[in-house]
Amino acid sequence: MLYDTGYSSHFFDATNPFPERLYRLILPVELDPQQSVVRQLQRHGVEPARIATVLISHFHGDHVSGLKDFPASRFVAMRADAEGLLSSSRLRALTKAMLPELLPDDFAARCSFADDCPEVALPPWMRPFTRGFDLLGDRSLIAIALPGHTPGQLGLLLRALDDRRYFLVGDACWSLPACRDGKLPAPLVLRYLSHDPRRYTETFFAIRELALREPDLTIVPSHCARTWSSLHDIAL
Ligand SMILES: [Zn+2]
Repeated sequence: MLYDTGYSSHFFDATNPFPERLYRLILPVELDPQQSVVRQLQRHGVEPARIATVLISHFHGDHVSGLKDFPASRFVAMRADAEGLLSSSRLRALTKAMLPELLPDDFAARCSFADDCPEVALPPWMRPFTRGFDLLGDRSLIAIALPGHTPGQLGLLLRALDDRRYFLVGDACWSLPACRDGKLPAPLVLRYLSHDPRRYTETFFAIRELALREPDLTIVPSHCARTWSSLHDIAL
């Protein structure tokens, strides 16, 4: 399984025409082909065809540009995010940093919704998060809604082979140190990079409360360099 795909060469194909080219003019992207998720997997001895499922945190271009590299995988996302994108016009999607062209043609047929899985109570130590969705039926992988950045962003709670607990939180916060310090993004950033700044703020402070109370829980924001540099030898 994968959680998101990052950027890939498909991003450049999708942003060649206008108006999509505006995306990469506003947020310029440099990508070494060796950094694509397919190449990274191969360096770890994993052929992309072995990836049965890609769990999608949300549909911003920097998280889903590699979906077309997994033609046999199924996809799992939150219903609000997936349906929001599938029902959006090209232009409306672009205003929300989403590129429908990045989706495989048969995306809808291969996508299921995490929030259709059985809803379960989370353990008390996860407060203020109280509910999740049991993705595999054995509580080993729980999807948790992290709304605000997008309507229904999908976080993941799991226990890895090293017996550590991980909470993958996508873009619910960008920097874990800043989150611990309670430092929200600048108001303009919050306003333009959030679907709902009020809900983003609620989710952000929920993660902060959890991070301060549960130091043994490894919280992993997608873009936090500090967190990633501390995760060299994990055995997921
Ligand atoms: Zn995002």
